[in-house]
Amino acid sequence: MLAAMPPTPAIPPHRDESLVRDRGDACVRDRGDACPGALRLHSAADGHLARLRLPAGLLTARQALALADAADRLGDGHLSLTSRGNAELRGLGDDCAEPLADLLRAAGLLPSDRHERVRNIVASPLAGLDGQGADGGAAVQEWARELDRLLCASDAAPALSGRFLFALDDGRGDVASLGADVTLIAESGGTALLRVGDDDRALRVPGGDAPRSALAAAEAFLTVAREAGTGSWRVRELPPGYAAPAVRALLRTRLPEPYTQPYAQVPAPAPPRPGLITSPRGTTSLSVLAPLGRLTTAQLRRLAAVAAPSGGTSRTESRGGSAELRMTPWRGVVLPGLPPETAGPGLRELATAGLVTDPASPWYGLGACTGRPGCAKSLSDVRADAAATLPGNGAGLPVHWSGCARRCGHPHGAWVDVVATGDAYEVSVRGTRHGAPATTTVPLTDPADRLADAVASARAATRTTP
Ligand code: SF4
Repeated sequence: MLAAMPPTPAIPPHRDESLVRDRGDACVRDRGDACPGALRLHSAADGHLARLRLPAGLLTARQALALADAADRLGDGHLSLTSRGNAELRGLGDDCAEPLADLLRAAGLLPSDRHERVRNIVASPLAGLDGQGADGGAAVQEWARELDRLLCASDAAPALSGRFLFALDDGRGDVASLGADVTLIAESGGTALLRVGDDDRALRVPGGDAPRSALAAAEAFLTVAREAGTGSWRVRELPPGYAAPAVRALLRTRLPEPYTQPYAQVPAPAPPRPGLITSPRGTTSLSVLAPLGRLTTAQLRRLAAVAAPSGGTSRTESRGGSAELRMTPWRGVVLPGLPPETAGPGLRELATAGLVTDPASPWYGLGACTGRPGCAKSLSDVRADAAATLPGNGAGLPVHWSGCARRCGHPHGAWVDVVATGDAYEVSVRGTRHGAPATTTVPLTDPADRLADAVASARAATRTTP
């Protein structure tokens, strides 16, 4: 039997309260976005929440230790990873805003107060680590640092919404299909494709100009959005006549001789599999996942310890690592470039700490929103219910449990949707081109293994559909 629930009304359809429709079918926003940030905290049912942008998911080992200290001192002792490779601290008290900001500034995690919510940059987490991607993928991490520097120096960028997203793909296609507003895709030979929203044409630019061109695309979006007068937060919200091709056309006039070409479809999102990843250069990287996307501070400190460089840090022993952690958009962490002799033992340490290090783990592919008790909108404790179905959790499509119809943080591509309705869970498949099977409704009064069976058969049915 699943967690007992008090009676709840039927689920209301999700309503975005900033959205009004008074210009035909166009989405019109009547206010700025309310996305939380590191300085603009959100009040949740379990206390205040801070969302910290981590361009390309990057943290140094020292910054990871600082965040662990912040979560222990000010929050609930956890770090939540988001579907953009960002991090959230939850359970913050009423007086936490100032000490948190001081701590983040001291750790170098707040380079610009004005820009802190617009540094939304995802990048291929394995770029430069496994020999894949265009020219080995090494350029993408440099692009991320340069784009972040340019964003933080831009007077226009603070007008972007906290939801506007840049994706920097090393050519393997893993983050190019995450639905970003501006996507850069590395090409062999030192060029890059720049795509605006879901435009069917892209601009080819020199790789060295790629970060500057991405910022120019965002600024062109702001110009077009102002002209449209709809308050759009994202490219896909622009009304007809002002959509992605209009942004591309304006951008083309602002870049030196970009070449326009049709944009070919990219593969589906492809998260790094947990385990060891070897590089042609002889180093080994570690890929792990946080169960249901949440790290304890003990796990975060263990990750920092395993990533420690030769000589260690003031709080860790030497491991010969790169002192870098890369948070992935799939709620995982990649530790780049360890020597082979410390990589294997490091992975075993992380498994002992409770992280997912093997695709055979029942936690692999399993995600959930915050749910009860952290989110007041939730109709169920989805994390507890997801954990209750673990023994029957098989392989297949990713599964995402949601406490209400907003489905916060759900995956891209095809996935199994498990959503609470108050007195039941509805299980269905979304995002598959083969068509979704019918929704299965499992009342909460049914035994837990009935829900586990429904989830497993949704994954299996999709696997076997041609
Ligand atoms: S999907 Fe989950 S986290 Fe998002 S509003 Fe609903 S219950 Fe809350």
